[in-house]
Amino acid sequence: MNIDQAIKEASSVLKKNRIKSAFLDCEILMSKALNKSRKFIIMNPNEKINDYEYRKFKKLISSRSNNKPIAYIIGKKSFWKYNFNVSEKVLIPRPDTEILIEQVLKIYKKKESINFLEIGIGSGCIILSILKEKKSFLGRGIDVCKESLKVCKDNANKLNLFNRLKLFKSDIDNFHLGKYDLIISNPPYIKKLDFKNMDDEVVKFEPKIALNGGLDGLSEIRKVIKKSSELIKIHGKLILEIAHDQKNEVKRILRNNNFYIKEVVKDFANKDRCIISTKI
Ligand code: GLN
Repeated sequence: MNIDQAIKEASSVLKKNRIKSAFLDCEILMSKALNKSRKFIIMNPNEKINDYEYRKFKKLISSRSNNKPIAYIIGKKSFWKYNFNVSEKVLIPRPDTEILIEQVLKIYKKKESINFLEIGIGSGCIILSILKEKKSFLGRGIDVCKESLKVCKDNANKLNLFNRLKLFKSDIDNFHLGKYDLIISNPPYIKKLDFKNMDDEVVKFEPKIALNGGLDGLSEIRKVIKKSSELIKIHGKLILEIAHDQKNEVKRILRNNNFYIKEVVKDFANKDRCIISTKI
């Protein structure tokens, strides 16, 4: 068996199981099985693979057939400019979330140092990408999930970011520490009833705790806004990721908590995705 034959065979298995990016996924999983780069896989289709490697590859393909996301199978996902470790206890970083980083860089273009908080860090992709871009920013991150802190720590170590980062295991209700120039969060915002319309990959594998926003999708957003209004400095900024249909409700909650709405930013699909407000 060579690389090309194994990939063709596996690709038809994935297609039968309605995996959209079957061929690409096979290349990625082959590179994982052989511990070689994707470039090597593409450049060496006739390279023989041994029984052990073939079995390992087939096992990875079988996970993918079951809809397990590639990011969880290989334990990595690229976001912004970096490759982040992920586990099934953290949400897979989404391209749309990069909008939050862009907005921070735009708002603080001329500002050297601020003290910011991220509520619900997951893999750490947001807080760490910001710290990497802004060399004098100090970041504090909280998450309820112990495993998430571990994943974020590993990513921080990989990116050499430990001295400007403080992490706490805490839920939002029990966190009272500090005053921040900026608070940022991609809270769980999916409506309970919307789960049934979501991709199997998300519903079956991603952590519900990072997605579930309760009956109206706003239960965590409400908590984040309320707590942020206590933890934020006057004129500090709150940047939130929201669902495409939550803009009006979230604006109302923000206003009720003394935030002035600065901007709503759309995602790559032209849907409202990020809301920026200022504490007054
Ligand atoms: N954007 C994510 C999704 O659609 C949800 C993220 C979240 O709830 N914060 O899967």
